[in-house]
Amino acid sequence: MDQALSVQERVRGFLGREQKMLIGGQWVSAVSGKTFPTVNPATGEVLAHVPDGDAADVDKAVRAARRALEEGPWSRMTPAERSRLLYKLADKIEERATEFAQLETLDNGKTIRESANIDIPGTVEHFRYFAGWATKITGETIPVSVPGHFLNYTRREPVGVVGQIIPWNFPLLMAAWKIAPALACGNTVVLKPAEQTPLTALLLGELIQEVGFPDGVVNIVTGFGETAGAALVNHPDVDKIAFTGSTEVGRKIMQGAAGNMKRVSLELGGKSPNIIFPDADLSKAIPGAIMGIYFNQGQVCAAGSRVYVQKGVFDNVVSNMVDYSKSVRLGPGIDPQSEMGPLVSNEQFNRVMHYIERGREEGAELLCGGARPDHLSNGYFVQPTVFVATQNDLTIMREEIFGPVVVVSPFNDIEDIVKKANDTMYGLAAGVWTNDIRKAHRTAHLLKAGTVWVNCYNLIDNASPWGGFKQSGIGREMGHYALELYTEVKSVWVNLD
Ligand code: ADP
Ligand code: MG
Repeated sequence: MDQALSVQERVRGFLGREQKMLIGGQWVSAVSGKTFPTVNPATGEVLAHVPDGDAADVDKAVRAARRALEEGPWSRMTPAERSRLLYKLADKIEERATEFAQLETLDNGKTIRESANIDIPGTVEHFRYFAGWATKITGETIPVSVPGHFLNYTRREPVGVVGQIIPWNFPLLMAAWKIAPALACGNTVVLKPAEQTPLTALLLGELIQEVGFPDGVVNIVTGFGETAGAALVNHPDVDKIAFTGSTEVGRKIMQGAAGNMKRVSLELGGKSPNIIFPDADLSKAIPGAIMGIYFNQGQVCAAGSRVYVQKGVFDNVVSNMVDYSKSVRLGPGIDPQSEMGPLVSNEQFNRVMHYIERGREEGAELLCGGARPDHLSNGYFVQPTVFVATQNDLTIMREEIFGPVVVVSPFNDIEDIVKKANDTMYGLAAGVWTNDIRKAHRTAHLLKAGTVWVNCYNLIDNASPWGGFKQSGIGREMGHYALELYTEVKSVWVNLD
């Protein structure tokens, strides 16, 4: 199949034109005039050049967001009007889902199956879910006990101008997770997409303008982390930073945000254990362990990158995982036959290969994969890779690899596995496979993780909280929990005497 022909005309049109970023309702170049390329990771070819925004552009965007917040029609809109705009945006994205899916796959590398079935519909439903919340954000009346007669009530008001910095693994979906709750709560936004994958955010910006969000409510600045990202984090007129990305950068963001005491919410890395007890239904647990690590080429913060299998079924699980890994069809994500695409960038490819090397050096046993397939030498492809190791202190057991690399490790019993599973600085997610209801809940309660999946993995729902314990983050996105990230509580006292 000629892959170029499968790409819609509109996508080609989008890629062929000069890219601008969205500030105060205008499509603009960077103040510096500079641009940077974004690359198709399946081929290494440049897809487009986008503005290289830095501190000057961020400052313009923050001013626009502040104006929209304090003076524009946005602040006078009713919750129902905000809700309607969010619903309209969801409908527009849905109408153009194929275009978004293809663009996402070209820019990120992920298979078209995943972008068409997960990323884009997930984005649409996320906007709808928070469109519903816009009219349901309420305060309380509080029965105060001070002498006299008082009415005391609370209001949930927008935090203000929100800086949102997102990663490249689910580019459009992460933009939705950030923008939707922020707008539902009445904030204004400066979004900085990841430098590896800026394109779908720019297309989203077009639709945001098209459905009629007032100018400056959403601003999108493309640029690098150390320049545009850091400028947003350090800007004195930004009230909050919402970030998804690496734990290393999350730490910098907390420090940078301290200057004017920005509110900070962070969704960071993970090294999630996926635990298989011998009484599990292995016909589900094994595919669960496989999908747990290979989904999105392993570039998932919740990736089940440590698979722990109780002795007794260990060899069975390992041999099945290896067989599957060898059978995965790698190829360009835009080809519907491909089961796994490339990693997002050359940098990420090198990072993953470096970890594979460390695994070997430190004595883990490499059972399959570990290299780039010969026939795909232009893209950033890494074969599905399975290691077996017994020591929890190996680098590949401790650090987030963010690639299709899994370490399978044996355990003895519940006490042993809880200790091993929790022996990490991370605490994002965990999986437990067992048919014993007591063991399932006992383990779920003992694991230090923001999400525990029992007999399933990688499930996410807009209504269910998402976020990390320990160094996997601060705060919870999704569900009503997200409203806490994007509102300030005000207590109002009225003397009735
Ligand atoms: P990765 O290293 O896998 O690309 P990062 O955590 O570095 O993950 O990137 C996630 C997002 O954070 C991107 O949008 C990136 O531009 C941004 N970023 C990176 N470094 C900084 C920084 N020092 N300050 C603010 N944002 C940053
Ligand atoms: Mg980085």
